[in-house]
Amino acid sequence: MAGLNDISWVLDLDGVVWLADEPIPGSAAAIELLDAEHHQVLFVTNFSALTSRQAEQKLETCGIKAKGRVLTSAMAAASLVEPGEQVIVCGGEGIIEAVKNRGATPLNPLQEHVPTSAIDAVIVGFHREFSFERLAASAHALHNGARLISTNNDPTYPTPHGLLPGNGSLTAAVAVAGKTEPTIAGKPHAPIANLVLERLGVERGTPGNIVVGDLPATDGLLAAELGFDFGLVLSGVTPADQVDTCEPKPDIVAQDLEAMVEAVLSSA
Ligand SMILES: [Mg+2]
Repeated sequence: MAGLNDISWVLDLDGVVWLADEPIPGSAAAIELLDAEHHQVLFVTNFSALTSRQAEQKLETCGIKAKGRVLTSAMAAASLVEPGEQVIVCGGEGIIEAVKNRGATPLNPLQEHVPTSAIDAVIVGFHREFSFERLAASAHALHNGARLISTNNDPTYPTPHGLLPGNGSLTAAVAVAGKTEPTIAGKPHAPIANLVLERLGVERGTPGNIVVGDLPATDGLLAAELGFDFGLVLSGVTPADQVDTCEPKPDIVAQDLEAMVEAVLSSA
């Protein structure tokens, strides 16, 4: 591990900071400790529906200082459009905000009267208002040459009532109807990894930096993309009996974020 003050922490939200909207005990205190030790903390999530302020507020209700420290897959998706472009947003408010911040124009697939040939890109993100009409409008733009960008490809997501369709399911529908392949912006892919490095101001592969998450397939592969260590916590979707078989292998395993921070700080 690098010197104490050199560590950057990339923290997943669901399964690390909270679980199904319930704060995970000890995480707020762990983040406070990192702040006191002057480590860098960046929250990185594949959830794209919330605006940055809404995401920050959700963290603040858990007692966590969040201003300017949240990076979402909506921001990663928006980094793939150019200022001045016209973009159909088949997704939530977080994407609309990110597209505007990028200097591009977000279009509602159901309301705008822009000729399909003038649409540069379609961004798909999780939203519950997905419909046949949105699918048709998005596909039509793709048939006329628009690029397909997706915030993330998670096929499902867990809820107390079982698995719900995730944005990967919506993306698959749009990709099939639009006869095109999507570029995936969120974890574990390069667009969000590039934004993480930019925000932290560190190089790919800097020793000692760590991604903490509960899902090897997204958080572990993001760590690999960044050249950071992967810290797996057991407070989310990966149970203890799957640690030995998970891919990629974690560099460090802990029960939860609090235990992870303790373990890393004591080994530094
Ligand atoms: Mg998670």
